[in-house]
Amino acid sequence: EFSNLKNPGKIGTLHLPHRVLMGSMHLGLEAEPEVFQRLVAFYEERAKGGAALMITGGVAVLPEGGGDHMFCLTDSEHDFFLAELVQRIHQVGGKVAMQLFHSGRYAFSKETGMPSYAPSAIASNWTRETPVEMSIDDIQRTIQAFASGALKAKKWGYDAIEVMGSEGYLLNEFLSPLTNHRKDEYGGSLAGRMRISLEVVRAIREQVGENFPLIFRMSGLDCMPGSTNPDETLEFAKCLEMAGVDALNIGIGWHESQVPTVAAVVPRAAFSTVAASIKEVVNIPILVANRVNTPEVAEHILSQGWADFIAPARPWLADAEFANKALSQQRQLLNVCVACNQACLDHTMAQPPQPVSCMVNPRTGAESLYPIIFAQKKKKIAVIGGGPAGLEAARAAASRGHQVVLFERQAQLGGQFRLAARVPGKEEFYETLRYFEHVLQQLHVEVRLSHNVHASELTSFDAVIVATGVHPRIPSIPGVELPHVVTYPEVLTGQVILGKRLLVLGTGGIGCDVTKYLLETAAPPAEVSRFAKQYDVTEVSVPVQRTITLVSRSDKWATGIGKTTRWIVRRELNRPELKLVKQFQPLEIRETGLWGQTPEGEKLLEADQIILCTGQETSSFDVEVLAKRIPIFRVGGAKDASQLNAVRAMREAFEAAYAL
Ligand code: SF4
Repeated sequence: EFSNLKNPGKIGTLHLPHRVLMGSMHLGLEAEPEVFQRLVAFYEERAKGGAALMITGGVAVLPEGGGDHMFCLTDSEHDFFLAELVQRIHQVGGKVAMQLFHSGRYAFSKETGMPSYAPSAIASNWTRETPVEMSIDDIQRTIQAFASGALKAKKWGYDAIEVMGSEGYLLNEFLSPLTNHRKDEYGGSLAGRMRISLEVVRAIREQVGENFPLIFRMSGLDCMPGSTNPDETLEFAKCLEMAGVDALNIGIGWHESQVPTVAAVVPRAAFSTVAASIKEVVNIPILVANRVNTPEVAEHILSQGWADFIAPARPWLADAEFANKALSQQRQLLNVCVACNQACLDHTMAQPPQPVSCMVNPRTGAESLYPIIFAQKKKKIAVIGGGPAGLEAARAAASRGHQVVLFERQAQLGGQFRLAARVPGKEEFYETLRYFEHVLQQLHVEVRLSHNVHASELTSFDAVIVATGVHPRIPSIPGVELPHVVTYPEVLTGQVILGKRLLVLGTGGIGCDVTKYLLETAAPPAEVSRFAKQYDVTEVSVPVQRTITLVSRSDKWATGIGKTTRWIVRRELNRPELKLVKQFQPLEIRETGLWGQTPEGEKLLEADQIILCTGQETSSFDVEVLAKRIPIFRVGGAKDASQLNAVRAMREAFEAAYAL
């Protein structure tokens, strides 16, 4: 199984035992001495977890090309940490490449304390700042900074370097006619626009010699209208090879681009054929990432000859043993990245930025704080509730050697994750459920399904973790008890027959999810549409005619969704069959619809079914019987239903298991 992934490979002179690498990630732990051990522990665990080669988060070659929590190669105070990091990784048998980085016009001046520099003074939609146009001196200084940075990396013992030239950062900006309007030798034709990148590569080669492995991360597709075209991209790849690059890592999209590139709506491996087209024109290895989250997908990419290595990043947050599990018949125990971005990219983009973690693996980024060691005393632990928080509590407690019994009143585990998995584009949550089912089995957690436990049954336990989650909040609107008023779980579990004119009340994450479910399930499945097109029987591919009204009390909608995905949700819901009504205060539910107050006066929104997505309330669990005799930990929704999200719920569950 996975024979292509298991094949040894080579990047320049660097021999690698297999094809699974770890791509570059900014962890928010860089350049902070007090959290350096956390940074080291993160990499050590991934090295032990089988990464053939890890690429560090970007290390700025100059201060103006860096940012908060970022190492900079001109800051001598960072030298010790960068040198120490590679030593520690080597001590556990890992290999690591340093990524040399310059953010160009994506630098935030409030972080660097100076203006950003770019090929031309063109404002960035990402930073809302206008950079300074680089002089020829600036360009030469930058090229030399890449070269001397590479030499430092080599001297410290790094196994390779990667030059960041994609995602809209400096070198990518020079290549693109969108951001490079220069009239001198570093602009204009393709030769001018790629000149700085090629000079960077040659300058690095001069410093580090012919044999030091050099990866260039180039953009395969900018997803920016009017940017570098496919022919230019191929030509650039060929020139990079000629200039002395040993491998090309193919990046996709810019931060400003309006195309999702890593969110859950992006199909797995969606961009791998972009890498394939580049692979056809060069003879050096090609690395791919972007929604390559399972070994099956990775193996498929390699078996098709689209790429030579996979270098995903987020899957290593979800599971530090990504390669080991993928390559050693432990696929069922692999915790798969669900592309939610909630604890990784949303943390990186937060103001102020927070260290990266992972929703489905709360230990990520905190490995040194929570070592995997057995608790001093083995205890008997009851976990009440088999939703995300309960699953994580049971897993974490059992992994520390405790004897765990998990009680779930439903016939299946999963809770809110099982509901979420029904939303089109969120099917990855089934992977999480599969993971927990197998890992709980492996850890000998006793799972009692369809068991509505009573506190009196728990007196023999040493501690109880209450993870009973939430249930829908029913607003106190007259008429809410009418039969055409339903809740979101009833809709998502298919318990109700849907009407034709639907009204979704509430535009938070759940309201948007339910709306998407209603929109997508009205259309026939993709295979029916394909069949209809092939045989010209379009009658079978006509969507069920439904109108959907999405109602917000305020003038905002899609609130409570992370920054990196909110814009995608809004875009996905921008459909003609959906009517969005804002600033509508519900006054009464009638048989004919929802009556309410608008800025223009009272009016009726007609509907034959009203779906409540109006928040959640704690599902309580009465522990009075146990009070004071047994420690009780409440986590997730059972602790506090307000502002609830799965990141918090699972983190609290994990922390409770460590507090036992
Ligand atoms: Fe993947 Fe979500 Fe974890 Fe980020 S937080 S690594 S997207 S599962």
